[in-house]
Amino acid sequence: MKIIMLGAPGAGKGTQAKQIAAKYNIPHISTGDIFRANIKNGTELGKKAKEYMDQGLLVPDELTCDLVMDRIAQDDAKNGFVLDGFPRTIPQAEALTAALTKIGQSMDFAIDVDVPDENIIGRMSGRRACLKCGATYHIVSIPPKQEGICDTCGSELVLRDDDQPDTVKKRLDVYHAQTQPLIEYYSKQGILKSVSGTQPMETVFANIVEILGE
Ligand code: ADP
Ligand code: ADP
Ligand code: ZN
Repeated sequence: MKIIMLGAPGAGKGTQAKQIAAKYNIPHISTGDIFRANIKNGTELGKKAKEYMDQGLLVPDELTCDLVMDRIAQDDAKNGFVLDGFPRTIPQAEALTAALTKIGQSMDFAIDVDVPDENIIGRMSGRRACLKCGATYHIVSIPPKQEGICDTCGSELVLRDDDQPDTVKKRLDVYHAQTQPLIEYYSKQGILKSVSGTQPMETVFANIVEILGE
């Protein structure tokens, strides 16, 4: 099963993608996580990506597309994958469609997690991330068992640099201008499904399972 998660920054794409990956036994591929891992390891790609990410801007398509195409060509992605944070622009979506068409494949579902802008700032300022294992928490709605510590790996949780309110506003503008058009793109491909992301995370997941099938 090949799935794309769509939605604004903070809509809950990552939270849901992790659960989808576990239930359907497919890899969770997050371009944001890949960039953050590169930043942490001080790679050339990380240095370039950070310049854009810190400003709330998208990393250029040239730096992003090849990375994803290489990742989905790996062995563990043979039976499908869930893409979280990619594609984010029409050219990225076109590159993905073209790469899959070449090997006689196509995406199965694009799931839009719908959350209004007014909910987003609160989601992001309360988000706490584990940069080691990629787990995500929220200080109010999804708290870790022990404050500031990752349940899964015991590392310290951080507020991401780009989750400061000013950067979040910029990211929302970028979302509306560059990413939201993908809703129509995948609607035209006939694979768009929408879920309301303002419900509790378990309810959102149950709605997604109804779409994907047990
Ligand atoms: P969120 O889940 O909050 O939307 P992500 O972790 O997906 O955040 O992305 C963080 C940042 O990484 C983005 O603001 C952007 O700068 C960069 N990024 C992630 N995915 C892409 C992509 N597909 N194209 C361009 N930039 C990306
Ligand atoms: P995205 O990947 O779309 O940027 P995340 O999955 O990281 O979003 O979620 C953003 C923040 O909102 C996190 O702090 C997460 O714990 C929290 N969150 C996710 N889903 C829900 C939900 N259904 N209700 C309340 N908070 C949520
Ligand atoms: Zn962790």
